[in-house]
Amino acid sequence: MTQLNYDVIIIGSGAGGGTVASRLAALASEGLKIAVLEAGPHFPKEYFTQREIEMFDLFESGGAFPSADGSITASFGKAMGGSTVMYTGVTFRLPDSVCKEWAVEGLTSTDLNSRFEKLEKELNVIEPDKDFENDNNRLFKEGCEKLGISVSKILLNIKNCEQMGFCNLGCANGNKQGTLSVQLPDASQAGVELIPNCKVTALLEKRVRAVVSKAPSGSLQGTLNEGTYEFNAKIIILAGGTVGSSSLLLKSGFKKEFPMLGSYITIHPAMTVYGIYPQKIKNYKGFPKIYYSSEYSTAKGYYLETAFYYPFITAKNLSLWGKDLKHAMNNYNNLMAILILVHDDALASNRIKLNWKNEPVLDYKLSEKSIAAFCDAQAKASKIFFAAGCNEVVMPAAEKTLFSKEDLKGKETESFITPKTFIPNKVPIATAHLQGGCRMGKDKNDSVTDCWGRVHGRDWLYIADGSLFPQSSHVNPYLTIMALADRVSEKIIATKDKWLN
Ligand SMILES: Cc1cc2nc3c(=O)[nH]c(=O)nc-3n(C[C@H](O)[C@H](O)[C@H](O)COP(=O)(O)OP(=O)(O)OC[C@H]3O[C@@H](n4cnc5c(N)ncnc54)[C@H](O)[C@@H]3O)c2cc1C
Repeated sequence: MTQLNYDVIIIGSGAGGGTVASRLAALASEGLKIAVLEAGPHFPKEYFTQREIEMFDLFESGGAFPSADGSITASFGKAMGGSTVMYTGVTFRLPDSVCKEWAVEGLTSTDLNSRFEKLEKELNVIEPDKDFENDNNRLFKEGCEKLGISVSKILLNIKNCEQMGFCNLGCANGNKQGTLSVQLPDASQAGVELIPNCKVTALLEKRVRAVVSKAPSGSLQGTLNEGTYEFNAKIIILAGGTVGSSSLLLKSGFKKEFPMLGSYITIHPAMTVYGIYPQKIKNYKGFPKIYYSSEYSTAKGYYLETAFYYPFITAKNLSLWGKDLKHAMNNYNNLMAILILVHDDALASNRIKLNWKNEPVLDYKLSEKSIAAFCDAQAKASKIFFAAGCNEVVMPAAEKTLFSKEDLKGKETESFITPKTFIPNKVPIATAHLQGGCRMGKDKNDSVTDCWGRVHGRDWLYIADGSLFPQSSHVNPYLTIMALADRVSEKIIATKDKWLN
């Protein structure tokens, strides 16, 4: 095993790791040796073809990491840039009310808001203009307005966006404002070493073991050859995301000391529902998301957002078979889509654990409250589609999955879609917002880190990713993750004299 010595090691290069790398670039410029170890490949912009089957390689498990009972699929990145390679760039600040609910001593919304402001400038967060409104966005807004449902514009981090439609397959012109094109290039220029295809397999006292594998074809060759390595470092920052960070600590024996490690994960369980419009609307072009409604957030526990996906994922989301599936897919050009995002509660029983092969397992069950939220959201989405002019809608939890107004036979959609008609494993639930597992808190018994992401009792080990969340963020999480990573970096820089000597 080759031994290598660094001052700082960052594990993972997504929203959290990429942001830490850019902040610690200042230390690299002073001559400190810093590296980012990333399990996934480093893809250049030419790699991003937006062809669905080819782009599955950007994701862990092809974008469908299953929950233990197979009822939910989780989507997260395994590439230099992490999940920011395929995120949509929907930008929300953590609401002040949620920060209060989190109740992490030492973490205030005043502190976070100043970091949000800085990050929004860095990532060019703007309100998209009318030009970004494709038919799906336009019709969603019109449908909501006809029904008196509040609708707001989403803020996006976009720059020179050519509106190619399938943002979640990576950006074909390389302009996505994620860590791959914003923070990591800055870090690399200052001397931070980016090491792709480098999977950390164990975390020990001030050192990690890692395996470097061959760079897949089309990806950039890193600085290290294939082999096993031990990296010694004065500071280690773990930023592997909810699954990566929790599972690495579990594998490395931290559970004995931190009984809640892996627990209290939240996922913003999500599903995409469809309406069939009488004319072609081609929503695979333009920007997939510019409107959302928070109308039912407080009372019912969900957001509705516009969205549009590529054919294979659409076929999966429809939850139809035979002639109904053929009918809906033949109308791909006519489909409208709405994404339902449920705010789930943090429960100790929902957790990342390890299987007998020491591999991570997402052990998560939908609560009755989340199922009720999904049913109500599908009822409201059906009304929006009909109000927008759709003839038929596809609601996987309804009495009849593909239905028209006539099929309702005078019933309200709320009584056509109920927890009784919600059949687990038939309703395709997904998540792209994994949170928690190494939550911040007061002590070892109920959390893993303090409010600065420092692992309790280890002044050389920090966590800087979505696993820090003590509960869900309610809103799309990337900006909050970057703000927490900014805090972690600030603490590391402020204590430099202590750990460097
Ligand atoms: C399709 C999609 C769309 C999304 N859209 C939005 C959006 O519009 N707005 C929003 O706010 N959020 C969005 N998200 C969510 C957002 O991207 C994530 O919440 C965020 O990137 C998580 O940051 P992270 O640092 O926790 O982990 P990630 O960004 O997932 O990065 C973790 C990285 O660590 C690496 N890693 C893990 N374990 C190891 C190990 N042992 N050794 C080395 N490397 C390791 C992984 O390969 C990965 O690259 C989206 C996510 C997806 C998948």
